[in-house]
Amino acid sequence: MKKITVVVPCYNEQDSLQCFYDSVKVVLDKLSEKINYEILFVNDGSKDLTQEKITEIVHRDEKVSLLSLSRCFGKESAMLAGFEYATGDAIIVMDVDLQDPPELIPLMIKKWENGIPVVCTRRKDRNHEPLLKSMFSILFYKLFNKMTSLNIPQGVRDFRLMDRKVILSILSLKERLRFSKGLFEWIGYEKVYLEFENRERKNGKSSWSFWKLFFYGIEAIVSFTVTPIRVATILGLGISFLSFLFLAYVIMDKFFNGNPVSGYPSLISITLFIGGVQLISMGLIGEYLGRVFYEVKARPHYIVSEVIKNEHLN
Ligand code: UDP
Ligand code: MG
Repeated sequence: MKKITVVVPCYNEQDSLQCFYDSVKVVLDKLSEKINYEILFVNDGSKDLTQEKITEIVHRDEKVSLLSLSRCFGKESAMLAGFEYATGDAIIVMDVDLQDPPELIPLMIKKWENGIPVVCTRRKDRNHEPLLKSMFSILFYKLFNKMTSLNIPQGVRDFRLMDRKVILSILSLKERLRFSKGLFEWIGYEKVYLEFENRERKNGKSSWSFWKLFFYGIEAIVSFTVTPIRVATILGLGISFLSFLFLAYVIMDKFFNGNPVSGYPSLISITLFIGGVQLISMGLIGEYLGRVFYEVKARPHYIVSEVIKNEHLN
Protein backbone atom coordinates (compact mmCIF):
# COMPACT_ATOMS: atom_id res chain seq x y z
CA MET A 1 0.00 0.00 0.00
CA LYS A 2 1.31 3.47 -0.86
CA LYS A 3 1.83 6.03 1.85
CA ILE A 4 1.04 9.74 2.06
CA THR A 5 2.76 12.12 4.48
CA VAL A 6 0.80 15.23 5.44
CA VAL A 7 3.34 17.89 6.42
CA VAL A 8 1.95 20.61 8.68
CA PRO A 9 4.11 23.60 9.69
CA CYS A 10 2.84 25.16 12.94
CA TYR A 11 3.78 28.40 14.64
CA ASN A 12 1.80 29.41 17.74
CA GLU A 13 -1.21 27.34 16.74
CA GLN A 14 -2.42 25.95 20.08
CA ASP A 15 -6.03 26.87 19.28
CA SER A 16 -6.10 25.44 15.76
CA LEU A 17 -4.40 22.08 16.29
CA GLN A 18 -7.19 19.90 17.63
CA CYS A 19 -9.71 21.16 15.10
CA PHE A 20 -7.26 20.58 12.25
CA TYR A 21 -6.34 17.12 13.44
CA ASP A 22 -10.01 16.07 13.79
CA SER A 23 -10.95 17.29 10.31
CA VAL A 24 -7.96 15.77 8.52
CA LYS A 25 -8.16 12.51 10.45
CA VAL A 26 -11.78 11.92 9.37
CA VAL A 27 -10.85 12.41 5.72
CA LEU A 28 -7.72 10.23 5.87
CA ASP A 29 -9.36 7.40 7.83
CA LYS A 30 -12.01 7.12 5.12
CA LEU A 31 -9.22 6.41 2.65
CA SER A 32 -7.34 4.00 4.91
CA GLU A 33 -8.33 0.89 2.93
CA LYS A 34 -6.55 2.25 -0.11
CA ILE A 35 -3.74 4.25 1.34
CA ASN A 36 -1.47 4.38 4.36
CA TYR A 37 -0.74 7.77 5.89
CA GLU A 38 1.28 9.75 8.42
CA ILE A 39 0.69 13.27 9.73
CA LEU A 40 3.95 15.08 10.43
CA PHE A 41 3.60 18.24 12.50
CA VAL A 42 6.59 20.58 12.34
CA ASN A 43 6.64 22.85 15.36
CA ASP A 44 8.45 25.97 14.16
CA GLY A 45 9.64 27.13 17.60
CA SER A 46 6.18 28.08 18.89
CA LYS A 47 6.04 30.08 22.09
CA ASP A 48 2.59 28.90 23.19
CA LEU A 49 1.31 25.40 24.02
CA THR A 50 1.66 24.05 20.47
CA GLN A 51 4.43 21.62 21.44
CA GLU A 52 2.42 20.16 24.35
CA LYS A 53 -0.76 19.86 22.27
CA ILE A 54 1.02 18.05 19.44
CA THR A 55 2.83 15.75 21.89
CA GLU A 56 -0.56 14.78 23.35
CA ILE A 57 -1.87 13.89 19.89
CA VAL A 58 1.31 11.99 19.01
CA HIS A 59 0.98 9.78 22.10
CA ARG A 60 -2.69 9.06 21.30
CA ASP A 61 -2.32 8.36 17.58
CA GLU A 62 0.39 6.13 16.13
CA LYS A 63 0.05 7.76 12.72
CA VAL A 64 1.11 11.17 13.98
CA SER A 65 4.69 12.32 14.48
CA LEU A 66 6.37 15.52 15.55
CA LEU A 67 9.44 17.39 14.44
CA SER A 68 10.40 20.31 16.68
CA LEU A 69 12.71 23.08 15.54
CA SER A 70 14.95 24.84 18.05
CA ARG A 71 13.39 28.26 17.29
CA CYS A 72 11.13 29.89 14.72
CA PHE A 73 12.91 29.53 11.36
CA GLY A 74 9.88 30.61 9.28
CA LYS A 75 7.31 28.64 7.32
CA GLU A 76 9.64 28.00 4.37
CA SER A 77 12.24 26.27 6.54
CA ALA A 78 9.58 24.41 8.52
CA MET A 79 8.18 23.02 5.26
CA LEU A 80 11.65 22.03 4.11
CA ALA A 81 12.28 20.21 7.40
CA GLY A 82 9.00 18.37 6.87
CA PHE A 83 10.05 17.33 3.35
CA GLU A 84 13.36 16.00 4.62
CA TYR A 85 11.78 13.91 7.37
CA ALA A 86 8.67 12.74 5.47
CA THR A 87 8.61 9.05 4.56
CA GLY A 88 5.58 8.91 2.24
CA ASP A 89 5.49 8.13 -1.49
CA ALA A 90 3.81 11.49 -1.82
CA ILE A 91 3.59 14.53 0.44
CA ILE A 92 0.72 16.91 1.06
CA VAL A 93 1.63 20.30 2.61
CA MET A 94 -1.13 21.94 4.64
CA ASP A 95 -1.59 24.97 6.87
CA VAL A 96 -3.00 24.17 10.27
CA ASP A 97 -5.57 27.00 10.32
CA LEU A 98 -8.06 25.08 8.09
CA GLN A 99 -7.77 27.67 5.32
CA ASP A 100 -6.75 24.68 3.20
CA PRO A 101 -9.86 22.47 2.88
CA PRO A 102 -9.12 18.82 3.87
CA GLU A 103 -12.07 17.71 1.69
CA LEU A 104 -9.85 18.15 -1.35
CA ILE A 105 -7.42 15.46 -0.19
CA PRO A 106 -9.25 12.44 -1.71
CA LEU A 107 -9.37 14.12 -5.13
CA MET A 108 -5.70 15.09 -4.86
CA ILE A 109 -4.75 11.50 -4.13
CA LYS A 110 -6.93 10.26 -6.98
CA LYS A 111 -5.21 12.57 -9.46
CA TRP A 112 -1.82 11.43 -8.15
CA GLU A 113 -2.80 7.77 -8.53
CA ASN A 114 -3.74 8.58 -12.12
CA GLY A 115 -0.13 9.59 -12.70
CA ILE A 116 -0.04 13.36 -12.11
CA PRO A 117 3.04 14.16 -10.00
CA VAL A 118 1.92 17.57 -8.67
CA VAL A 119 -1.63 18.43 -7.64
CA CYS A 120 -1.85 22.12 -6.67
CA THR A 121 -4.71 24.11 -5.21
CA ARG A 122 -5.85 27.63 -6.00
CA ARG A 123 -8.26 30.05 -4.33
CA LYS A 124 -10.95 31.19 -6.77
CA ASP A 125 -11.56 34.41 -4.86
CA ARG A 126 -10.06 36.56 -2.13
CA ASN A 127 -13.15 37.02 0.03
CA HIS A 128 -12.43 37.57 3.76
CA GLU A 129 -8.99 39.03 2.91
CA PRO A 130 -8.15 42.69 3.68
CA LEU A 131 -8.41 44.78 0.46
CA LEU A 132 -4.88 46.18 0.75
CA LYS A 133 -3.39 42.69 1.16
CA SER A 134 -5.30 41.46 -1.92
CA MET A 135 -4.17 44.43 -4.01
CA PHE A 136 -0.50 44.02 -3.12
CA SER A 137 -0.67 40.29 -3.56
CA ILE A 138 -2.19 40.55 -7.08
CA LEU A 139 0.37 43.20 -8.02
CA PHE A 140 3.22 41.09 -6.64
CA TYR A 141 2.36 37.98 -8.66
CA LYS A 142 1.93 40.07 -11.85
CA LEU A 143 5.33 41.67 -11.29
CA PHE A 144 7.03 38.40 -10.34
CA ASN A 145 5.72 36.58 -13.42
CA LYS A 146 6.76 39.47 -15.68
CA MET A 147 10.27 39.61 -14.27
CA THR A 148 10.93 35.87 -14.25
CA SER A 149 10.18 33.25 -16.86
CA LEU A 150 7.92 31.49 -14.34
CA ASN A 151 4.16 31.64 -14.14
CA ILE A 152 2.64 31.41 -10.69
CA PRO A 153 -1.15 31.60 -11.08
CA GLN A 154 -3.07 34.07 -8.90
CA GLY A 155 -4.31 32.64 -5.63
CA VAL A 156 -2.17 29.49 -5.75
CA ARG A 157 -1.50 27.98 -2.31
CA ASP A 158 1.36 26.01 -0.77
CA PHE A 159 -1.36 23.39 -0.14
CA ARG A 160 -0.44 20.74 -2.70
CA LEU A 161 0.37 17.10 -3.22
CA MET A 162 3.81 16.24 -4.58
CA ASP A 163 5.18 12.87 -5.59
CA ARG A 164 8.41 11.70 -3.93
CA LYS A 165 10.42 12.39 -7.08
CA VAL A 166 9.18 16.00 -7.00
CA ILE A 167 10.18 16.29 -3.34
CA LEU A 168 13.65 14.98 -4.20
CA SER A 169 13.94 17.73 -6.83
CA ILE A 170 12.90 20.33 -4.23
CA LEU A 171 15.47 18.95 -1.78
CA SER A 172 18.18 19.21 -4.42
CA LEU A 173 17.75 23.00 -4.41
CA LYS A 174 20.06 23.98 -1.59
CA GLU A 175 19.57 27.75 -1.49
CA ARG A 176 19.08 29.31 1.93
CA LEU A 177 16.63 32.05 1.06
CA ARG A 178 13.67 30.12 -0.16
CA PHE A 179 10.56 31.34 -1.91
CA SER A 180 8.82 27.98 -2.12
CA LYS A 181 6.02 28.96 -4.50
CA GLY A 182 8.73 29.99 -6.98
CA LEU A 183 10.80 26.85 -6.37
CA PHE A 184 7.74 24.61 -6.82
CA GLU A 185 7.21 26.29 -10.18
CA TRP A 186 10.89 26.30 -11.16
CA ILE A 187 11.37 22.53 -10.91
CA GLY A 188 8.68 21.97 -13.56
CA TYR A 189 6.71 18.65 -13.76
CA GLU A 190 3.19 18.21 -15.02
CA LYS A 191 0.63 19.69 -12.65
CA VAL A 192 -3.09 20.25 -12.26
CA TYR A 193 -4.90 22.87 -10.20
CA LEU A 194 -7.92 22.23 -7.98
CA GLU A 195 -9.94 25.32 -7.10
CA PHE A 196 -11.73 26.21 -3.91
CA GLU A 197 -13.42 29.19 -2.28
CA ASN A 198 -11.27 31.21 0.09
CA ARG A 199 -11.90 30.64 3.80
CA GLU A 200 -11.30 32.60 6.91
CA ARG A 201 -8.77 31.36 9.47
CA LYS A 202 -10.65 29.21 12.02
CA ASN A 203 -8.71 30.16 15.16
CA GLY A 204 -5.76 32.32 16.13
CA LYS A 205 -4.38 34.97 13.82
CA SER A 206 -2.13 35.15 10.77
CA SER A 207 1.55 35.56 11.60
CA TRP A 208 2.12 37.69 8.48
CA SER A 209 2.05 41.44 9.04
CA PHE A 210 2.00 43.84 6.08
CA TRP A 211 5.71 44.58 6.39
CA LYS A 212 6.65 40.93 6.78
CA LEU A 213 4.81 40.22 3.52
CA PHE A 214 6.36 43.26 1.84
CA PHE A 215 9.94 42.13 2.62
CA TYR A 216 9.03 38.54 1.73
CA GLY A 217 7.97 39.92 -1.70
CA ILE A 218 11.32 41.66 -2.17
CA GLU A 219 13.08 38.49 -1.05
CA ALA A 220 11.14 36.45 -3.60
CA ILE A 221 11.99 38.73 -6.52
CA VAL A 222 15.64 39.17 -5.57
CA SER A 223 16.14 35.43 -5.13
CA PHE A 224 14.73 34.64 -8.57
CA THR A 225 15.83 37.33 -10.99
CA VAL A 226 18.35 40.11 -11.64
CA THR A 227 15.79 42.12 -13.64
CA PRO A 228 15.74 44.98 -11.04
CA ILE A 229 19.48 45.54 -11.54
CA ARG A 230 18.95 45.47 -15.29
CA VAL A 231 16.25 48.13 -14.92
CA ALA A 232 18.75 50.25 -12.94
CA THR A 233 21.32 49.82 -15.72
CA ILE A 234 18.83 50.87 -18.39
CA LEU A 235 17.71 53.83 -16.26
CA GLY A 236 21.37 54.86 -15.89
CA LEU A 237 21.94 54.64 -19.63
CA GLY A 238 18.76 56.63 -20.35
CA ILE A 239 19.62 59.38 -17.88
CA SER A 240 23.22 59.64 -19.17
CA PHE A 241 21.95 60.01 -22.73
CA LEU A 242 19.44 62.72 -21.78
CA SER A 243 22.10 64.58 -19.75
CA PHE A 244 24.40 64.54 -22.76
CA LEU A 245 21.68 66.09 -24.94
CA PHE A 246 21.00 68.70 -22.27
CA LEU A 247 24.71 69.53 -22.01
CA ALA A 248 24.90 70.04 -25.79
CA TYR A 249 21.85 72.29 -25.58
CA VAL A 250 23.36 74.43 -22.78
CA ILE A 251 26.64 74.87 -24.70
CA MET A 252 24.85 75.82 -27.93
CA ASP A 253 22.59 78.20 -26.07
CA LYS A 254 25.63 79.92 -24.56
CA PHE A 255 27.51 80.27 -27.87
CA PHE A 256 24.67 81.10 -30.27
CA ASN A 257 22.24 83.01 -28.07
CA GLY A 258 24.75 84.30 -25.52
CA ASN A 259 22.56 83.06 -22.65
CA PRO A 260 24.51 82.84 -19.41
CA VAL A 261 24.28 79.42 -17.75
CA SER A 262 21.51 79.92 -15.25
CA GLY A 263 18.80 78.04 -13.44
CA TYR A 264 19.58 77.05 -9.87
CA PRO A 265 16.16 75.31 -9.40
CA SER A 266 16.63 73.06 -12.46
CA LEU A 267 20.20 72.30 -11.39
CA ILE A 268 19.25 71.30 -7.86
CA SER A 269 16.28 69.18 -8.96
CA ILE A 270 18.36 67.32 -11.56
CA THR A 271 21.13 66.70 -9.01
CA LEU A 272 18.67 65.42 -6.43
CA PHE A 273 16.90 63.24 -8.98
CA ILE A 274 20.14 61.61 -10.09
CA GLY A 275 21.23 61.26 -6.45
CA GLY A 276 17.96 59.39 -5.78
CA VAL A 277 18.45 57.08 -8.76
CA GLN A 278 22.01 56.36 -7.63
CA LEU A 279 20.92 55.52 -4.10
CA ILE A 280 18.18 53.19 -5.35
CA SER A 281 20.67 51.43 -7.63
CA MET A 282 23.18 51.05 -4.80
CA GLY A 283 20.43 49.73 -2.55
CA LEU A 284 19.54 47.18 -5.23
CA ILE A 285 23.12 46.01 -5.58
CA GLY A 286 23.25 45.81 -1.78
CA GLU A 287 20.14 43.56 -1.76
CA TYR A 288 21.85 41.10 -4.08
CA LEU A 289 25.17 41.30 -2.25
CA GLY A 290 23.32 40.62 1.01
CA ARG A 291 21.89 37.43 -0.53
CA VAL A 292 25.40 36.32 -1.50
CA PHE A 293 26.49 36.96 2.11
CA TYR A 294 23.76 34.66 3.45
CA GLU A 295 24.35 31.94 0.86
CA VAL A 296 28.13 31.91 1.32
CA LYS A 297 27.82 31.35 5.07
CA ALA A 298 25.85 28.20 4.21
CA ARG A 299 24.30 27.78 7.63
CA PRO A 300 21.73 24.98 7.94
CA HIS A 301 18.15 25.92 7.04
CA TYR A 302 16.89 24.86 10.45
CA ILE A 303 17.97 23.07 13.62
CA VAL A 304 15.93 20.16 14.95
CA SER A 305 15.56 20.05 18.72
CA GLU A 306 13.31 17.01 19.07
CA VAL A 307 11.78 14.26 16.95
CA ILE A 308 8.98 12.07 18.24
CA LYS A 309 8.16 8.82 16.43
CA ASN A 310 9.45 9.50 12.97
CA GLU A 311 10.33 6.58 10.71
CA HIS A 312 12.97 8.65 8.96
CA LEU A 313 15.23 7.94 11.92
CA ASN A 314 14.63 4.15 11.90
N1 UDP B 1 3.87 29.20 10.04
C1 UDP B 1 5.10 28.65 10.43
N2 UDP B 1 6.14 29.51 10.74
C2 UDP B 1 6.02 30.86 10.67
C3 UDP B 1 4.78 31.40 10.24
C4 UDP B 1 3.73 30.53 9.94
O1 UDP B 1 5.24 27.43 10.51
O2 UDP B 1 6.98 31.58 10.96
C5 UDP B 1 2.75 28.28 9.69
C6 UDP B 1 1.44 28.59 10.42
O3 UDP B 1 1.37 27.94 11.66
C7 UDP B 1 0.41 28.04 9.44
C8 UDP B 1 1.05 28.32 8.08
O4 UDP B 1 2.44 28.46 8.33
O5 UDP B 1 0.19 26.64 9.58
C9 UDP B 1 0.48 29.56 7.40
O6 UDP B 1 0.58 30.68 8.27
P1 UDP B 1 -0.54 31.82 8.38
O7 UDP B 1 -1.90 31.21 8.46
O8 UDP B 1 -0.11 32.72 9.49
O9 UDP B 1 -0.35 32.54 6.97
P2 UDP B 1 -1.49 33.13 6.00
O10 UDP B 1 -2.51 32.05 5.82
O11 UDP B 1 -2.02 34.32 6.67
O12 UDP B 1 -0.74 33.42 4.73
MG1 MG C 1 -3.50 31.03 7.14
